[in-house]
Amino acid sequence: MPHVETALGPVDVNDLGMCLMHEHIVVANWSMRQNYTNYYDAEQQIPKAIAALKRAADRGVRSIVDLTPVNLGRDIHTIRRVAEATGVHVIAPTGFYWTEEPQMHAWDARSLASYMVRDIRDGILDTGIKAGVIKCATDNPGVDAFNKKLLQAAAIAHRETGVPISTHTTVSNTSARDQQIAFAEFGVDLTRVVIGHCGDSTDLDYLQTILDQGSFIGMDRFGLEAYLPTDQRVQTVAQLCAKGFAGQMVISHDSCSFQDFFDQKYIERFAPNWCYEHVPRDVLPALKSAGVSDRDINTMMVENPKKVFSKIGGY
Ligand SMILES: [Zn+2]
Repeated sequence: MPHVETALGPVDVNDLGMCLMHEHIVVANWSMRQNYTNYYDAEQQIPKAIAALKRAADRGVRSIVDLTPVNLGRDIHTIRRVAEATGVHVIAPTGFYWTEEPQMHAWDARSLASYMVRDIRDGILDTGIKAGVIKCATDNPGVDAFNKKLLQAAAIAHRETGVPISTHTTVSNTSARDQQIAFAEFGVDLTRVVIGHCGDSTDLDYLQTILDQGSFIGMDRFGLEAYLPTDQRVQTVAQLCAKGFAGQMVISHDSCSFQDFFDQKYIERFAPNWCYEHVPRDVLPALKSAGVSDRDINTMMVENPKKVFSKIGGY
């Protein structure tokens, strides 16, 4: 069987088990970390990350995909420590976030892709840990010229290595569909892409246009109530399962044990369930109550992740 690269080495895709396909262990800006010692305290945060992931593991989670882009603070040493301490398979990412950084203007897609290919083939820094997934993002600007270059870079790295692509979108525009159009233009087989954050939408017609292209869609922000409450996310997944789309959905939280996007107090108050254990603890029982079969749940939590990471190999 195919193997997927994880923080502790290659793992048979049959051993991935229940897999959360879009999470983050730590999102912490590198420039701030390097310049202000009080910005992020790794020795305080890493034990919290380990404890949070262990709680999910106690509820059956065997694997997570960390989708933190390099320029949002991908921290491979922390990823490895958390994987070692929890025994959870952690698939590490490569790729760049949509946030425009001045130096990226001068780089063409091929030079950006070369960094990703290095992470995938040679490993990240001196750790020997190889990236197992390519992250890219578009967000509010949509597929503008700059973001299209990032998508092209991801496509080049994907076509060279066969490592799957997983994306970030926003429901405030049509970037999910626009990403597919761009990827198709760059020669990507859309069945090898996870279009992320589709679960923020309840628009079944729009979601079906994305599904009809063959991609997986990420119903991957459970617990982020401010964007969409859990019961509406559950209903959307249940309705798509009833239409026969369980084979194209993956379920996750997009949560972080530490992140610098929101004040921690805001999360504790407005998103107390935005954590790695919400899906096994609350969401899966809610899906069952909404009529989703055990078989469909297994498809979304185990079989689809296995499928995403089974098709390794360049074009
Ligand atoms: Zn994310």
